[in-house]
Amino acid sequence: MPRSPMLRISAVSKTYPNGVKALRGIDLTIDKGLFGLLGPNGAGKSTLMRILATLQAPDAGQLTFDGVDVLADPQAHRRHLGYLPQDFGVYPGVSAEELLDHLGVLKGLTNARQRREQVDALLQQTHLHAHRKKAVSGFSGGMRQRFGIAQALLGQPRLLIVDEPTAGLDPEERNRFHNLLGELAEDVVVLLSTHIVEDVRQLCPRMAILSHGQVLCEGAPGQLVDALTGRVWRKAVEKHEVPALHASQTVLSTQRSGGRAVLRVLADAPPAPGFECVPPDLEDVYFATLAAK
Ligand code: ADP
Repeated sequence: MPRSPMLRISAVSKTYPNGVKALRGIDLTIDKGLFGLLGPNGAGKSTLMRILATLQAPDAGQLTFDGVDVLADPQAHRRHLGYLPQDFGVYPGVSAEELLDHLGVLKGLTNARQRREQVDALLQQTHLHAHRKKAVSGFSGGMRQRFGIAQALLGQPRLLIVDEPTAGLDPEERNRFHNLLGELAEDVVVLLSTHIVEDVRQLCPRMAILSHGQVLCEGAPGQLVDALTGRVWRKAVEKHEVPALHASQTVLSTQRSGGRAVLRVLADAPPAPGFECVPPDLEDVYFATLAAK
């Protein structure tokens, strides 16, 4: 028997007062574990995340979590919600431990002893315990994002929404952050929005690609990659050949290499002499999906 889905998004649309149609009928069903929402800037990811966090309402559509209507009772939904927004402000000079405790009070954790225990456990879990007396405002980008996860986990949420968490992190910090997210997802729905293909490749058993407010494809990354087998072609060409190939082919990516350009092209047959068929990867899936749109 398949498990019952936990988060269901049906026909959700949002148009801003300036006329921008940020979401155009989003349908997604998201089960436990890490789900990656991948899309370029402006795709509508943050808009969807804010709607799921009940910070703004959609114009149309339904949201249910564990079968319960989210929009009918946002207050109840917030009790099992954790949210890490794209930019979260912190009070200057307040230590990680104090700030987390304060945010715990705001989250409704009224029992001081239990709250302190939870704050302590979260600081351990996010590897910030040694830094608990330091001001969050002085943290590095990676530490700040780990603190962001600690605050999102207050109150043991069952739905965790993480909006572009690795943007601006260096590779080492990103790796650390990935490990932390990977450890979390066992019995929570974690929805991760990102424009970085690598985040999804490393972390998410399921994913969707969003562009111009629409879901363009959805599935397991491995299956989406396999579906492109035999259709991705590569060739190193001289720079002056690039514009003509762009005009005649679906170019997925161009990488500079020693004065030449290595092109990856999507095609059902050899696109031109000298192209070799190569194994597809998730970046090919991403660019092929956006190109088809
Ligand atoms: P993403 O998170 O994928 O970058 P957003 O949800 O932030 O996408 O934005 C989707 C579209 O909606 C963009 O065109 C953006 O400019 C627009 N947008 C976002 N927020 C607002 C707002 N508050 N008012 C008007 N337009 C907005």
